[in-house]
Amino acid sequence: MPPTNIVDYLRISLIDRCNFRCQYCMPEGAELDYLLKSSLLQDDELLLLLREVFIPLGFTRFRLTGGEPLLRPNLSNLIARIAALPATQDISLTTNGFLLAQQARALYNAGLRRINISLDSLNAETFDSLAGTKGRSRWQQVWQGIQIAHELGFNPLKLNVVVIPGVNDSELLDLAALSIDRAWHVRFIEFMPIGNDALFGDRGWVPSEEIRQRIRDRWGLAEGAVQGNGPADVFQIPGAQGTVGFISQMSECFCDRCNRMRLSADGWLRPCLLNETGQIDLKTGLREGIDPKLLRQQVQTLLQLKPEINYKERESGTTMGYGKTMSQIGG
Ligand code: SAM
Ligand code: SF4
Repeated sequence: MPPTNIVDYLRISLIDRCNFRCQYCMPEGAELDYLLKSSLLQDDELLLLLREVFIPLGFTRFRLTGGEPLLRPNLSNLIARIAALPATQDISLTTNGFLLAQQARALYNAGLRRINISLDSLNAETFDSLAGTKGRSRWQQVWQGIQIAHELGFNPLKLNVVVIPGVNDSELLDLAALSIDRAWHVRFIEFMPIGNDALFGDRGWVPSEEIRQRIRDRWGLAEGAVQGNGPADVFQIPGAQGTVGFISQMSECFCDRCNRMRLSADGWLRPCLLNETGQIDLKTGLREGIDPKLLRQQVQTLLQLKPEINYKERESGTTMGYGKTMSQIGG
């Protein structure tokens, strides 16, 4: 039996919709079936699940994601409520940054400090082509959101880069350099075959070690910097204020140290990014009036099964008939 890990981190998708259409996240041209508003877990339902189900089972760290979480109405209020739960040790958000300039202050005032902003390119044209926002450039507004988040004092401020061969891999050193003068943490993510299999088939992925070597050749790279909570291997360019991290789910299997579960926007609890086995529909249970203690027992059983459910054949992605995009799963 695989080793058991402490699972205390819940990625919560707040909405499946998105105002971008990133090439690596969604299949080109395909229509996605968005959830009806009535199918989304409401704030009160989510809080109840945290209080009655997840926190008693030891979950203390929560990441809000999507789709695009900044599209969720009253997000700041929800953040303030989660942050106020006595058990919450950590609350963080992953966003594409497009609406950040206008929402950053409210998020900060609500108690959010940890933020991950996706930034795949410093070149507006490449950025828009990747984000599917050509014709109405979004780069400038995302960049402005990042600056405002920095000025407000978000910390850690992480920049997520999904590396796509032949698209943004020529500017990886420029992106890594963002970690030098400011305490920004640039995280390079290996492209996974989820969401857009055709693009993955055409382009493939760049191993993290290749990127590390390029950074090493340019500046050197200090190894063994303090590791974060997640799967990133963290390094530092000598003298830099921030770090460079690598999420290498394709080249290095970290399933055995997986510490998370995922809650979808419509309340399905998913034990593993790449394997839906054992999923629990918590929202329906809740709405049917099932005692939260029983839901907790179901989640506890799933936690026990998780080490065996954890998928370990990442190269084949989710070609297991589920066909979900990252925007639907929550990344
Ligand atoms: N919309 C927000 C954003 O883009 O940051 C949050 C949701 S997004 C699904 C969460 C993370 O998943 C992002 O950092 C995104 O870059 C990453 N992601 C999406 N599709 C991916 C893929 N096929 N391979 C690797 N990472 C992916
Ligand atoms: Fe939207 Fe994020 Fe997916 Fe891009 S990666 S399409 S921003 S959910």
